[in-house]
Amino acid sequence: MEQLTCPKCGLIDEPELAPSKIHIGAYCKYCGAWIKWMPQGKKPIFYFGKYKDKPIDEITDVQYLKWAKENIKKQKADWYLAVQNRISELEFLLK
Ligand SMILES: [Zn+2]
Repeated sequence: MEQLTCPKCGLIDEPELAPSKIHIGAYCKYCGAWIKWMPQGKKPIFYFGKYKDKPIDEITDVQYLKWAKENIKKQKADWYLAVQNRISELEFLLK
């Protein structure tokens, strides 16, 4: 992981990471000062229904994924792809 400089105490070290709703916060290991927001991993998530806010690759309900893929229109191509990949993965695992 990259090293960051704490703006408060000047420590240069890998930060302590703590996820919040949208971002991951990087905090100084020494004094606890907030340093910056780290980008979230690019995991596509569900943002509706019973799996709201859950990463697609953690959903194990293949029926629901299939339903969502068929019925939820206005989604981005990468979302569809992630859902499709997850369905394939689950179908492979369930065989
Ligand atoms: Zn510090």
